[in-house]
Amino acid sequence: ERLKNLLNSYRPKSAIQIAEEKPAPFSLDEIRQGISEAQFEPFFQPKVDFKSGAVIGAEALARWRHPDHGIIAPQAFIPLLEERGNIDDLTFLMLERSAMACKELHESGYPISISINLSRVSLHDATLADKIAKVVLKTGLDPKYIILEITETAAMTDVAHALENLARLCMKGFALSIDDYGTGYSSLQQLTRIAFSELKIDQFFVKDLVHHESLRIVVQSSIDMARRLGVKSVAEGVETQADWEMLASLGCDTAQGYYIARPMDFESFRQFIPRAGVAALAQNL
Ligand code: C2E
Ligand code: MG
Ligand code: MG
Ligand code: MG
Repeated sequence: ERLKNLLNSYRPKSAIQIAEEKPAPFSLDEIRQGISEAQFEPFFQPKVDFKSGAVIGAEALARWRHPDHGIIAPQAFIPLLEERGNIDDLTFLMLERSAMACKELHESGYPISISINLSRVSLHDATLADKIAKVVLKTGLDPKYIILEITETAAMTDVAHALENLARLCMKGFALSIDDYGTGYSSLQQLTRIAFSELKIDQFFVKDLVHHESLRIVVQSSIDMARRLGVKSVAEGVETQADWEMLASLGCDTAQGYYIARPMDFESFRQFIPRAGVAALAQNL
């Protein structure tokens, strides 16, 4: 009950409206035009420490602020960008904006990290690590505050190049995260080959956790495995208080999901952080 009040107390009052109706499919030209006109921006979804309730970071999720159709979610543009070889335009826009946002938050006294999604397509480019480092160093941010999320399938397709890129990024000080854990192929193999520091348990396992013993066992094992590997466990798609309580009791480190907050624009996120911090303090009294 105390926890519930706590979380309610720092849930943003003005929910951001995401376009409900499915927009007309966009052409690659329209999308690229939108990117070149900087209509795309990162929305930030808080990642919260289960023990303290404090915001320790955020995942940057791409949104298109379309002049006619409102705010468009990634499903409407990412598959096409990936398919047609233009995903890097978006990746670097997201990276630069997020690193700048992160830097700004540090200067306001919030030393949090920002997570960026890397497309499997980008991992084929042998110069990726250098390009990423260049963009981030330009903002003056220490790369350890940028967490690069890769999906298990992403690391898979061109294994040699992907592993080389990931090793280089790691050497340059970036943190790596395995996204959507449990839904890819050959997942356990990847875990032994990538120097990652975070395991994100896919929403699929979190969604019905409280109702299914088998999901609970799988999630418990994943959390235990993460701990034994010395990496953080993050639960995605935490939607209810029951989800929160179950995951907390299983010893999960970090929560992300609608129960805490939906992805929001930078200004809203900036205002959200101290509220969560205050709640965390209150909890420790
Ligand atoms: P993801 O990386 O697994 O991101 C989590 C997705 O789950 C986000 O969807 C987020 O809004 C949603 N989510 C968060 N909490 C909850 C919850 O409690 N319940 C439910 N049902 N959903 C929740 P979103 O923003 O639509 O992004 C979808 C996918 O698009 C992402 O999955 C990621 O794979 C991709 N994506 C987003 N932004 C980028 C980007 O900048 N670059 C690349 N390459 N991919 C991106
Ligand atoms: Mg992700
Ligand atoms: Mg995910
Ligand atoms: Mg996903």
